[in-house]
Amino acid sequence: MSKPDTSWTPKIREKKLLTIRNDAEIGVWSGVVAEAIPIFNQKMMNAVKYELVAEGHANVIVKIAGGRKDDPKLGATATHGVARRWIGNRGVEEAEIYLPAQPSQGHKNVLLMIMLHEMAHAAGLENHASDGLFMTLPNISATGKISATKGGKSMPPFFFSNKTVVRMRAIW
Ligand SMILES: [Zn+2]
Repeated sequence: MSKPDTSWTPKIREKKLLTIRNDAEIGVWSGVVAEAIPIFNQKMMNAVKYELVAEGHANVIVKIAGGRKDDPKLGATATHGVARRWIGNRGVEEAEIYLPAQPSQGHKNVLLMIMLHEMAHAAGLENHASDGLFMTLPNISATGKISATKGGKSMPPFFFSNKTVVRMRAIW
């Protein structure tokens, strides 16, 4: 059985907008969040948009994993992050995205893919897609080209599969 996607609370859903604060402007991750946001908004066809806020309250907070005791454990060779969501009676109320401190693949394309993938989880998607940014296990070439299958459609340019966009629209 696949897990159904999880929607945010109605109050947030009506804006179709998630504010996001970047507490991960460190090392290899510098600039990645800011670069990922317009890509996400465009490739998700505005099903939901992220808006960067400099400080204070935000719906989604981005962090580097490992700084605190209760952080999720990400392997040293991680090519993925973790999105944690707090779900109340009426849906998701807040979320955090944890990025691996030492991603095994430091290519900028891979960092962007990790961030864009977790943004989709934070916005409510659960089970992975078979292609695009929300795929399970990407093939990554030495030159930073990413594809679901060897010889498959490669990223960049980044894309979410149509099915992923339809699922996002359904919960927003
Ligand atoms: Zn995932």
